[in-house]
Amino acid sequence: MRRLVFATRNAHKIGEVREILAEAGVEVELLPLPAEVPDVVEDGLTFAANARKKARAAVAATGLPAIADDSGLCVDALNGMPGVFSARWSGRHGDDAANLALVLDQISDVGDDHRGAAFVCAAALVLPRGVERVVEGQIGGKLARAPRGSGGFGYDPAFVPTGSTSTTAELTPAEKNAISHRGEALRGLAPLIVELIPDS
Ligand code: IMP
Repeated sequence: MRRLVFATRNAHKIGEVREILAEAGVEVELLPLPAEVPDVVEDGLTFAANARKKARAAVAATGLPAIADDSGLCVDALNGMPGVFSARWSGRHGDDAANLALVLDQISDVGDDHRGAAFVCAAALVLPRGVERVVEGQIGGKLARAPRGSGGFGYDPAFVPTGSTSTTAELTPAEKNAISHRGEALRGLAPLIVELIPDS
């Protein structure tokens, strides 16, 4: 079985990624980031830069291959913001409710035709021998005017994927993974995991 560290503190994401890789047919033992590993400062200006940084730190701390993702919401009417600042848009890192409320407030006067947005994800695989790969995925949609649904996390209650009437917080985890930015990026990484990490 291939052993990989997934460099995140977000328990919700670990569950999503485990399911995505299993559905892609990749058998891995996905280890959480050990508690003693210090948090990485996510100061990159791109999702790819932050994903690489998180995965490199996990490799340095554990000596094991690591994957990491960095993701966020890019809102057309906000010139692509909050983007890499999605987790701390309101000024408080990880305050999902405040971040969502602020974005909805900022575009409260934007008409229905101009409420386009996308979730974007970069997934990085870094090996102890220095090999690095990054794959990106995205899902387009629109922002609803008010939150709906109790699934997912972050901006899910306001994000309505193109072709859907539900928000991603109203989808089952499997429905969300099948279309999500993280699903696309991780499915792209799956064959690289198989190719680059020996099955022991
Ligand atoms: P990260 O953990 O640094 O990748 O930060 C991602 C932030 O972007 C999260 O805190 C959420 O606010 C937002 N985000 C990323 N992916 C999703 C998603 O699938 N649903 C809802 N919000 C997301």
